[in-house]
Amino acid sequence: MRTKTKAIHAAMEVANPNPDIVPPVHRSTVYELDKEGRSEGDWHYTRLENPNRVQWEQVLKVMEEGEAAAAFSSGVAAASAVFQALEPGDHIIIPEDVYAGNRKLVHDLMKPWGLQADFIDMTDLKNVEDHINDNTRLIWIESPSNPLMNIMDIEAISDLAHQNDAMACVDNTWPTPINQMPLKLGADLVVHSTTKYFGGHSDILGGAVVSRKNDERFEKIRMVQRTGGAVPSPDDCWMLARSTRTLPYRMKGHNQNAETLARFLQNHPKVEKVFYPGLATHAGHEIAAKQMSSFGGMISFLIDGSAEEAIEIVGKSKLIGRATSLGGVESTWEHRRSSEGEGSITPENLIRISVGLEHADDLLEDLERALSDE
Ligand SMILES: *Cc1c(COP(=O)(O)O)cnc(C)c1O
Repeated sequence: MRTKTKAIHAAMEVANPNPDIVPPVHRSTVYELDKEGRSEGDWHYTRLENPNRVQWEQVLKVMEEGEAAAAFSSGVAAASAVFQALEPGDHIIIPEDVYAGNRKLVHDLMKPWGLQADFIDMTDLKNVEDHINDNTRLIWIESPSNPLMNIMDIEAISDLAHQNDAMACVDNTWPTPINQMPLKLGADLVVHSTTKYFGGHSDILGGAVVSRKNDERFEKIRMVQRTGGAVPSPDDCWMLARSTRTLPYRMKGHNQNAETLARFLQNHPKVEKVFYPGLATHAGHEIAAKQMSSFGGMISFLIDGSAEEAIEIVGKSKLIGRATSLGGVESTWEHRRSSEGEGSITPENLIRISVGLEHADDLLEDLERALSDE
């Protein structure tokens, strides 16, 4: 089956005991034991297993073409499980401009737990190689990165990881499997904040880990999921599986609108620089074109002006909402530095847009108005 078909039909028979076209929500927190008080596997309590979670994990697995998936209550819970499945004392390499929440997670929770981490520029392969040491067990990739849209070579970095007895894990939240398939490029793990494009409507929090192999390493992640307990509700799993059915078409719209807006911004006199991997002028365009099938719905740009002016521009939109996060059907934008806070290396004149599915002309008119001098 092709992706569009898989998105609609994957795992529809799972957790669906009746002839329903759509599986029901299974809210029961407990399952009846047999007369001897035994359960089948983990089917005795919902934190350990739930029909909707099993169904949603099957969908994730199919979409990313992995062998196993674990769903979490948020994207950072998923990242946290990947780190906790390592050993205290292990070393990781992670991009210097990694998603701010994951930077905070590593600094505030994982380092005190015993994880060692180097935050580095990963667009330079030699730099990645130079930071690998005997304890390096994981290389974290986020490509395109947030918000600078740096492109990292997933295939080359995965090779480098494997030569050094380490795993490569890709945060595929921004591209989604519609635009980028990291496991096919050689990565071992994919993580998602399903809060974003998988959910797609700014109304669900969720995360996921998908593994290329259903192996011991994945079993450890599964153990952290069940023991740590950061699991999504049956309703959230149901909603996410539902939203995935329109993911290919939504991504097509996000990709198209973003490309249109990126070109408009690139030619605007108030704009100093546009970061969009689909533009031939983007520093990582060549690698992006090799590893992505389309370039996504996120754009960052620098205005020719100060932080105050950037904040003022964001304040002038009428259609594009002022909000952080991304991946919704509605367009939103933000002065990124303000929302990242302490430790941010984002330029102060940077604005980040999550391009939604409105008519592109309405978005262009709003941008034109916000960037004008009136
Ligand atoms: C939002 C986001 C996360 C964190 O996900 P939450 O669901 O907010 O916990 C991780 N990585 C990227 C790239 C994100 O955009």
